[in-house]
Amino acid sequence: MADIFRLYGDEFRRQYSLSYQQQLVMRDIGQCRTAVLGGHVDECDNCGGVRVSYNSCRNRHCPKCGSLAEARSKKWQVYAQPPFGQPEQVLDYPDVRP
Ligand SMILES: [Zn+2]
Repeated sequence: MADIFRLYGDEFRRQYSLSYQQQLVMRDIGQCRTAVLGGHVDECDNCGGVRVSYNSCRNRHCPKCGSLAEARSKKWQVYAQPPFGQPEQVLDYPDVRP
């Protein structure tokens, strides 16, 4: 989606009237994990290995980071309807990893 926004975003915005919020979402998704937003270095505490990554846009509409961040931050729980007189049962699902 980011590639499409970068390639055709300007033309799309000229053809269609977008709200300010829609324009911000397109901008964020188009810039997500590119040099425009800068980068950071992660270093492993165990082996000292280094990984350089571009920063994400953190927009919740972004398919690269928004849905992943939301999935990581949420505690996925399913509440089962308990039989009468028994305590409510909560089931936890494991963390969602890419
Ligand atoms: Zn993003």
